[in-house]
Amino acid sequence: MPATAATDIALIGAGIMSATLGAILRRLEPDASITVIERSEAAGTESSGAWNNAGTGHAGLCELFYTPQRPDGSIDVAKAVRVNEQFQVTRQFWAYAVQHGMIERPRDFVHPIPHVSFVHGAHGVDYLRRRHDALADHPLFAGAEFITDFAEFAARLPLMAAGRDPAVPVALDWAPHGTDVDFGALAQHLIGYGERNGTTVLFGHQVHTISQAPDGRWELNIGDRRTGQSTRITAKFVFVGAGGATLPLLQRSGIGQAKGFGGFPIGGVFLRSGSPQLTAGHRAKVYGAPAPGAPSTTAPHLDARTVDGAHWLLFGPFAGWSPRFLKDGRRSDLARSVRPGNVTSLLRAGFGERELVGYLIGQLRRTHATRTQELREFVPGALEQDWSAVRAGQRVQVIRGGRLEFDTTIIHADDGSIAGLLGASPGASTAVPAMLDVLRRCFPGRMGDWTPTLREMVPSLGTRLADEPALFEQVWRWGSRVLEL
Ligand SMILES: Cc1cc2nc3c(=O)[nH]c(=O)nc-3n(C[C@H](O)[C@H](O)[C@H](O)COP(=O)(O)OP(=O)(O)OC[C@H]3O[C@@H](n4cnc5c(N)ncnc54)[C@H](O)[C@@H]3O)c2cc1C
Repeated sequence: MPATAATDIALIGAGIMSATLGAILRRLEPDASITVIERSEAAGTESSGAWNNAGTGHAGLCELFYTPQRPDGSIDVAKAVRVNEQFQVTRQFWAYAVQHGMIERPRDFVHPIPHVSFVHGAHGVDYLRRRHDALADHPLFAGAEFITDFAEFAARLPLMAAGRDPAVPVALDWAPHGTDVDFGALAQHLIGYGERNGTTVLFGHQVHTISQAPDGRWELNIGDRRTGQSTRITAKFVFVGAGGATLPLLQRSGIGQAKGFGGFPIGGVFLRSGSPQLTAGHRAKVYGAPAPGAPSTTAPHLDARTVDGAHWLLFGPFAGWSPRFLKDGRRSDLARSVRPGNVTSLLRAGFGERELVGYLIGQLRRTHATRTQELREFVPGALEQDWSAVRAGQRVQVIRGGRLEFDTTIIHADDGSIAGLLGASPGASTAVPAMLDVLRRCFPGRMGDWTPTLREMVPSLGTRLADEPALFEQVWRWGSRVLEL
């Protein structure tokens, strides 16, 4: 490629966010020049990679941290409903992508699997019953079953029942229509679709700096990691979808909106087993409640996974810590992200989150034996030799106004010429609504022309499916048929 190239749209990173945005923009603007710049040699290898996340299509069906208890004992379901609405948008786009040949086989990235909440002990059972009742009449949560009978528990989750004391009360909230998703494979398919249709994809290339020229275009300085050669790309619009590295890149772009933000990396470790005896006894994603003081994203769960056609079990996550912003990043990432504009906020967060720091220190002391002991809460008969530890991706949590946040945040410049996504939860499952949000913020003048195509991609666009049960039924059936769920 020449030393300087021009493109209409530059997407930094080929994770699920850029891959989704690139595929949507390819459909909306078939003639636009789009360039994806990815530092690794393939799409979807960082946080979006199959073993770097839990592969849960988060729809609020089973995650207890989305349904906290209010002081009066009632259950706040607002976040679960919001996450479900967001997931329905994603699910519709996936159905569109398969229907239009952008992805050939849904089984390459998505599998049906029950999503289940699990509690034990009288308090837990009481909470779960109230949670179930609070969601029972909601159209998006219909069909969930509340189960307390031990024999039924054992029939559905034999691995979790074996060796368990039947005298201790247990309860399940069983949502039959959940999904297990390989977001890395999905990113690869979406990037591949773009490449077949005119998008330039530069693997093994790292964006070092971003700066805005006087004419408003962005200049990206890029290094070829294989040859060491430098190149420059100018772009009218830039999306920074660099996962954990998004914050430093936005800081380097100099946009005022990035000032004041900080990032705190939290790594993850899973226990994994591919033993056929174990995988045969557990075909569900089962979520428990987070430990007191632990971040919501560390709620323990035992997941059945399908990756490259093989069955696996995953348990965790256990929190890990490293100052890197990418799994394959530099030890200096955290230190280099400290700026005059965010240092006060970082320090305030450091003092304010002492409980979290204590929790993380406790997690770092975990050994294989103590992790297996925690697993026994789910699998009472777990043996250390059946499980091995795998390092998951890095989540760079957003620090804003002296507080640590666990959601995703989109930052964009006032002129809409650059945007980026920070944070990681609910993460990949909400890639489509997040990227539609980027389009709304950055291309307000194009939304009128684009809306008919966007409606084909997401028929429920602009509506709350909770208020439109007939439309929900229609798009749900469409998605289930096309995605073979
Ligand atoms: C332990 C864990 C469990 C999770 N579980 C789930 C789950 O069950 N369900 C769910 O929906 N979400 C989950 N998530 C969140 C989800 O993985 C992320 O939100 C999502 O993958 C982020 O996608 P992304 O495209 O923003 O980032 P990434 O997938 O990290 O992609 C960013 C890309 O940018 C590239 N890059 C970085 N810097 C540069 C640069 N300077 N130049 C060029 N390229 C660059 C990287 O190589 C990478 O490929 C989990 C995350 C973790 C860590």
